[in-house]
Amino acid sequence: MINIAQFDNTYARLPERFYAQIPPTAVSDPKLIKLNEKLAIELGFDVGQLTSKDGVAILAGNELAEGSEPLAMAYAGQQFGSWVPQLGDGRAVLLGEVNAPELGRRDIQLKGSGPTPFSRMGDGRAWLGPVMREYIVSEAMAALGIPTTRALAMVTTGDDIMREEILPGAILTRIAKSHLRVGTFQYFAARRDSEGSKLLADYAIDRLYPDCKNSEHPYKDLLQSVVSAQAYLVAQWMGVGFIHGVMNTDNVSIAGETIDYGPCAFMDDFHPDRVFSSIDQTGRYAFSNQPRIAHWNLVQFAQAILSLLGKTEEEAVAVAQAVIDTYPSLYHQAWLDVFRAKLGLSLAEDDDETLVNDLLKAMTNEGADFTLTFRALTSQDQVELGAQFQNRTDIDPWLVEWRARLERENRDVAETRKSMKAQNPAFIPRTHLIERSIKHGLEGDFSTMERLIETLSKPYDDQPENIDFMHAPTQAEQVPYTFCGT
Ligand code: AMP
Ligand code: MG
Repeated sequence: MINIAQFDNTYARLPERFYAQIPPTAVSDPKLIKLNEKLAIELGFDVGQLTSKDGVAILAGNELAEGSEPLAMAYAGQQFGSWVPQLGDGRAVLLGEVNAPELGRRDIQLKGSGPTPFSRMGDGRAWLGPVMREYIVSEAMAALGIPTTRALAMVTTGDDIMREEILPGAILTRIAKSHLRVGTFQYFAARRDSEGSKLLADYAIDRLYPDCKNSEHPYKDLLQSVVSAQAYLVAQWMGVGFIHGVMNTDNVSIAGETIDYGPCAFMDDFHPDRVFSSIDQTGRYAFSNQPRIAHWNLVQFAQAILSLLGKTEEEAVAVAQAVIDTYPSLYHQAWLDVFRAKLGLSLAEDDDETLVNDLLKAMTNEGADFTLTFRALTSQDQVELGAQFQNRTDIDPWLVEWRARLERENRDVAETRKSMKAQNPAFIPRTHLIERSIKHGLEGDFSTMERLIETLSKPYDDQPENIDFMHAPTQAEQVPYTFCGT
């Protein structure tokens, strides 16, 4: 066995009903196509070792690293509102955990690593496209400063994957603060396994929210911590035009990280009702619905830990309700913080919300590009603004209002601009660029992907040499739908 890190596996110490012990299934011809060297170093891995034949064998699941205790986690969840009592890692295995000096404890997971007892009808595999998409988007998210799982590596497997067509198999190494989901708690609640629920809640507190431990009401505080983390996270998504696409309870991380990049997308031209996912027929997970859906998901979490929230059901419901009721104002405040910062406002005025909403309305009416609009406001690029708002009837009076509001800030213009630049990215992982990277990747050329990943690692920099990645797609380049990562 190869020693790549000091594994310290806490999830594997939980009772056996929490998971299925299962090694990854070997693949025929593993090839490393991308290693996130910076993250590897932060995790305490040796880059040379990870890129060696032995290292790649581990990233492909052909060899086990010393100390690794592979397992598939059990969880349940509501998918598009419908209850599924058993989901679980159907194509992923947790290799184990490392306690990195700077980052803290992190899960090391292979995704696309073969069947598990939770695979149901699936093959346990992933093809190159979704693996590339998750790598690109999750790393872009991290560079934007938004909580997310990370991508450590991508390998191709040398095996064919049967989808609507035959596609090359691939495996992603995913890093997370933890893979606990709302659905993990629902799994135990649904089985009326109150001992399991308590063990899991204690585990979550120990690992993610240790401050709750010393509180008088640790589980109430756990609920509050998860509510606050989700309110913050969704507000961040709204500030970059991100649509998650599958906010099922099994895709809601207790750690408050963005997780499971399936049919997700960053919007180009803004519309609040935008949906990309080809399977989201009713628009349940539309852009503007995300805050409400997060609220609904948090109610499901509260229900799952209800037995821990009070001695009687009445008491527990009252505690749950009181905490859940903090969500709307937490979200609202986080959202306002995000958009104030995007508009260069450091003070708070009552009418700021109207100012933000008026801009979003003008953008909707004109189909203005979300990212380019805020970037043009930052740089005061009149040509770009003109391109986004060909009809000036809404934007001109808005600009007058905004400038008057900025005057009242009494801040140095250069300082305002600098602060706005750090809030309004020039580069987001636009769907057409991801699709182009995948197309080239399927032809064996990963140079587009490499340049895209590199560009997205500095989203707030101007990077004139990569200006083509800043542009919105032309009509011909537009990708109307994204697909689930299966
Ligand atoms: P997702 O929509 O990716 O969040 O996945 C929902 C559920 O389906 C999870 O339990 C996954 O593990 C499982 N799943 C997705 N794709 C596959 C696959 N190709 N093979 C087995 N299970 C899968
Ligand atoms: Mg999932």
